[in-house]
Amino acid sequence: MRTVDIKQLSRSWAKGIGLQEFLVTRRHSSGELIEIPVARIQGAFQGPQMTVMSGMHAGEYSGILAAQKLITSVKPEQLCGTLIVIPVISTKAFMQRNMQLNPVDQREVHFVRPGNPEGTYSDMLMDTIFEIVKDSDFLIDSHAGEMAQSLMSWIPVPMGGDDEMDRKSLELAAGFQIEYVEPRYDVPSIPEFCISLLEAGIANIWVECGKNGVPTQKDIAIHFDGYVAALQTMKMIHGDPARHDQKVLKGKRSQINSHKSGVWHPAVNEGDIVESGQHLGRLTDYFGNTIAEFTSPSRSLVLYYWSNPAINASRRPHDYDWHNGLVSLLDLEE
Ligand SMILES: [Zn+2]
Repeated sequence: MRTVDIKQLSRSWAKGIGLQEFLVTRRHSSGELIEIPVARIQGAFQGPQMTVMSGMHAGEYSGILAAQKLITSVKPEQLCGTLIVIPVISTKAFMQRNMQLNPVDQREVHFVRPGNPEGTYSDMLMDTIFEIVKDSDFLIDSHAGEMAQSLMSWIPVPMGGDDEMDRKSLELAAGFQIEYVEPRYDVPSIPEFCISLLEAGIANIWVECGKNGVPTQKDIAIHFDGYVAALQTMKMIHGDPARHDQKVLKGKRSQINSHKSGVWHPAVNEGDIVESGQHLGRLTDYFGNTIAEFTSPSRSLVLYYWSNPAINASRRPHDYDWHNGLVSLLDLEE
């Protein structure tokens, strides 16, 4: 592994075929250091560039372990084009076991738009990631449920590129053994980072597979096999890509939040379909006395719920509703 400053990275890429491993660094004005591991595999044949990345949210481990496996599995002499693998994006959060938010500035980096390296630590982090991936044609970003998140596996696909790019993004998703694919048109609910990728002409998906910060062998394999299928789909490696029965999810996202702090008792599971008015759970005080009840506003699919009982309504850094979130829903009513 070589340590290189972001400014030196593209000059450090070897001309010949093979695997290179870098620790890409950049110093933020706060004094905090950004460190991002980047593997670059230059194939023996001409072809496009694909990026596989994970660990944007640092407790989402199944994709991280699958990305590691990818680095050692893809043989440069059999690869057409270039594969970039970033196994852990948020290394500072990863090493602090810090859930979801960046530990330096408490921001949710998926919703940080690149292009502002003079801003906060998260601004610089996502700008650095963008600098690393910006020449890619395709990008797969692996996520899962954080330690506090019981999550149903599904693949959101940011739509809004041209038809050709939207089609390629959907093709990236088709090889994952995950039941639900969600083409997302609702722009405010598409993370800013994904919008920047679309604007740069990069077909992309993010894959939600795994839950509660537990990297099971099954979930790691689903991420890994999906990467392989995507490489085959884009003709970067040989083989017929796997295809699975997938259903298209349509609907608007909503999140049930608590306006009070307390102890959360969920009454649903991820993947449940709940009816309008159905009980979702209750909030109690420390002693177990009910202080609030929650019901579903519409017939909805439970994408995930917070399995962690600790609900803190006053902790809302940058207004982000992570510590008072209870249930994430997809409205199934038309
Ligand atoms: Zn995530």
